[in-house]
Amino acid sequence: QRAHAAGRRWERASADEREAIDWQLSLVGELDQAIASGALWVAYQPKLDIASGRITSAEALVRWQHPRRGNIPPDQFVPSVEAHGRAQAMTAHVLHTALADAASWRKIGRPIGVAVNVSATLLSDDRLVAEIGAALARWRIPADMLTLEVTESAAIASADAAIERLGELRQMGVRISIDDYGTGQSTMTYLKRFPATELKIDKSFIQNLATSRADLILVRSTIDLAHALGMCVVAEGVEDADCLAKLVELGCDTAQGWHIGRPMPGENLALMQAWQRAA
Ligand code: C2E
Ligand code: MG
Ligand code: MG
Ligand code: MG
Repeated sequence: QRAHAAGRRWERASADEREAIDWQLSLVGELDQAIASGALWVAYQPKLDIASGRITSAEALVRWQHPRRGNIPPDQFVPSVEAHGRAQAMTAHVLHTALADAASWRKIGRPIGVAVNVSATLLSDDRLVAEIGAALARWRIPADMLTLEVTESAAIASADAAIERLGELRQMGVRISIDDYGTGQSTMTYLKRFPATELKIDKSFIQNLATSRADLILVRSTIDLAHALGMCVVAEGVEDADCLAKLVELGCDTAQGWHIGRPMPGENLALMQAWQRAA
């Protein structure tokens, strides 16, 4: 089925598009090698806990430093990795790297939680829950220091197996975040069925918060709604001080964005957090 769809896509494609498809295909073929060599690495973007003013967690964002093609952003390889059934390998690598880093920060007295992005396709994999449990045990990380970010999509909201799996992870103590909230089409079903601890408002609603009346109204009511349902709220795409000030005013729990910090290597994150604690 997949190969068939790819074939049709290929037939309709222009020369440029064919080159892009070829490129992504050959990239996926290099995935295992990239994992083994360290070319596939993890950057961390700090999440600011607004109440305490501290960096208490960070989002793990995968990066591919390609020997010939340079730094490739995730938008250019994650979708094809997923389409070719390799999401499990990539995610396992990111998860273990993030938990290993969290363990090393904990050891030096700087506890920082980690958030890992999980492809929707993996939620229907029977092994997911056991694998996450084993990874937490291996790195001796308390389950509530791990958040799984799942992008809002209609497919998950209607999949009983995925909802069940997320419920099992919740039981273990793992935190679940609805990523890119507001961009999907299944909002009401989601909030009703999804056992989430956190709602992460998409950056398209946050970036102009200080100047857009519509965004302000949407974000304010989303924060109130999430709180009424017992969820925490994270704003992504916080690019300036005015935006952060508005979020404080609205009672948002956590802020993430360039104004707080860009995605960075793990060593830098630990330094940033130490410096902030001293201040
Ligand atoms: P996401 O999970 O929604 O991650 C947030 C994206 O917004 C990141 O892009 C981050 O660098 C960017 N960002 C953060 N702050 C700001 C800001 O203030 N302004 C703007 N304009 N952008 C900001 P990035 O790293 O390019 O990642 C893109 C997407 O790739 C992620 O979106 C996520 O869906 C996916 N991704 C990244 N790592 C992984 C992974 O390990 N597994 C999976 N399945 N997907 C991943
Ligand atoms: Mg995310
Ligand atoms: Mg997001
Ligand atoms: Mg996003």
